[in-house]
Amino acid sequence: MIQARIPSAGYCIYCGAKVYSDDRKKLGDEHIIPFSLEGELVFLEASCLSCERVTGRFESKLLRNTLLATRVNLNLRSRNSALSQTKALPLFVDTVAGVQKVLVNTEDYPTVLHLPYLPDPPIVSEIGNLGPTEYPPRPFTKFLNYNKEILNKKYGLSNWNHVSLDNRLLCRLVAKIAHGWCIANKKVTEYTPILDNMIIDPNLESRELLSFVGGTPPEPKTPKELHQIRAKIFPVEGIDFIVVNVRLFAFLGTPTYSVVSGIMGDIPKNGLPNCSARTKGLPNFSRISIPAY
Ligand SMILES: [Zn+2]
Repeated sequence: MIQARIPSAGYCIYCGAKVYSDDRKKLGDEHIIPFSLEGELVFLEASCLSCERVTGRFESKLLRNTLLATRVNLNLRSRNSALSQTKALPLFVDTVAGVQKVLVNTEDYPTVLHLPYLPDPPIVSEIGNLGPTEYPPRPFTKFLNYNKEILNKKYGLSNWNHVSLDNRLLCRLVAKIAHGWCIANKKVTEYTPILDNMIIDPNLESRELLSFVGGTPPEPKTPKELHQIRAKIFPVEGIDFIVVNVRLFAFLGTPTYSVVSGIMGDIPKNGLPNCSARTKGLPNFSRISIPAY
């Protein structure tokens, strides 16, 4: 795999710090798409310790929980060599005695990738609020490995708890990817990034970012690439927004996310369009409900 290395911007791309920590000068390297999702772009010396701690927290919540079985199934790399040798993963089952953990061999593990389809990011939505959309949010579901019969025969399982997806964490991950990619590709003298503070908000439950992240209607073509990123300028109310499209696991035909990462030039005197008005009536996408199957 070819790794592209992007020279340091000379500061932390989230908070602007010039040094990593009190004890170390050199900033940490950042993978624009996480290493464990096979991200190839490495932004050299781009994050300080304190920002790394926050981004590491939500990345690992997603990558080591919700997306773990998918990563193992697709044989994606890991910093933890134990993962590549993982023989079994835990499945959680509700019993009268409480929730029980059952270890299931990876070749039998029910692996289903769920990702939500999202409407336009509210801040650039033409309709002012989400209201009715032509593609109401529903999860994209891809069965990577699923054999009920084997689970029943071999492990005595007839039911188990499906892994749910926290949309706030997913939106934060795609926002982080879009933000890093934008700074790597555009001179910050040309544009103003707008997501940096929200990405490193220590409150992972924060919904503020959800105004800036949305999606596109399902794309007709399924590409060969593992992931895709592209950007476009999207003018709204006289402001040129930079919208970065991020499609993770693109080769599986997944949804594409749109992240409003910045605006060309400076923030206008009156500020950005009124987010709270636009997010009025925003359905609660905190958790993606997963249909029974
Ligand atoms: Zn920082």
